[in-house]
Amino acid sequence: MTAAILYVVSTPIGNLDDLSPRAVDTLKKVDLIAAEDTRHSGRLMQHFAITTPMLAVHDHNERQRAQVLVQKLAQGQSIALISDAGTPLISDPGYHLVSAVREAGYQVVPVVGPCALIAGLSVSGLATDRFSFYGFLPAKSSGRKQQLQQLKEVTHTQVFYESPHRIVAMIDDIVSVIGAERQLVLARELTKTFETVYGSVAGDVQAWLAADHNQQKGEFVVLLAGAEEQPPQEIGVEEERILSVLLAELPIKKAASITASITGHKKKALYDRALQLQGK
Ligand code: SAM
Repeated sequence: MTAAILYVVSTPIGNLDDLSPRAVDTLKKVDLIAAEDTRHSGRLMQHFAITTPMLAVHDHNERQRAQVLVQKLAQGQSIALISDAGTPLISDPGYHLVSAVREAGYQVVPVVGPCALIAGLSVSGLATDRFSFYGFLPAKSSGRKQQLQQLKEVTHTQVFYESPHRIVAMIDDIVSVIGAERQLVLARELTKTFETVYGSVAGDVQAWLAADHNQQKGEFVVLLAGAEEQPPQEIGVEEERILSVLLAELPIKKAASITASITGHKKKALYDRALQLQGK
C-alpha cells in the first residue's frame, strides 16, 4: 500500500458480494478507515475479516476531522474513506475531507464500486446521454413542489433519492407539479432481496405505489424522464414590430420581457431575436 494516499472506497448498497476484491484489499492494508458510522460499517468489516482501525467522520465533525486526517497523511499514513453504503460524497459525507486533502497536495484515489444513482439509471430505460442528479428534495411538500416547478421544463433525465417515509408524498407532488403523463421510474431496494424496478407514466406509478404498502418500504431512486423538447416558436411580424419599437427605447432584456408579456411569446426567443436585430 502506497503511503500518504486517501482512498475513496465504494461499499455495497445491499448485496455484500458487490464489495470488490480491490476494495477489500485496500480496506485491509490502509492504516485507518474513516467511516460515516463505525458501528454500521463494523458489520461489513466483520464479514470480510477486516481489522483496520476506524475513525468516525460524519456530517457533524467532518471539517475538524479533515485536519486530523491531513496530519496523518503528512506522517505517511494511508487512509480509506467509506460511507454507510455506496460511493462516499454522493449524498454522503466526504466533500470537505477530499477537498482538504487535495488542497494539502496529497493524492486521492477512487476505489470504484456501487452507487444507487448509477445503478438506478442503468436499469431505468430512460435516456442516459444527459442527466442531472438532485439527491434528496426538500422534506416539506411546499419546498419540494417549488423545486419540482423549477425542473418542469428540464429536457433531460432527472434522478433523486428518497426515503420510505416520504416516497408516497414525493410521487404525489411529482404528479401534481409535473403531471400524470410524464414517464417515471422507481428503483427500489437495488441489489437486495426485494429489488423492484417499476416504470410507467407518473399517474400509474402513483396508483401502483398507493395500492401496495410493501412497495412503499425500503430505499428508493426516483428517475423522471425529461420534458419533451419544444420546437422553437416562430416570431411573427407583429411580435417583431413590438420588439423593435421597444428596443428603440429600452435595454434588450427589458424590451424582450415586455414583448413577452404583451404577446405571450417566449422571453428567451425574443431576447435572442433582439440581439440579432441589434447586430450583436
Ligand atoms: N452514497 C450512496 C450511493 O452511492 O448511492 C447514497 C447514500 S444516501 C444517504 C442514501 C439513499 O440512497 C437512500 O435513501 C436511497 O434513496 C438511495 N439508495 C441507497 N441504497 C439503495 C438501494 N439499494 N436501492 C435504492 N436506493 C438506494
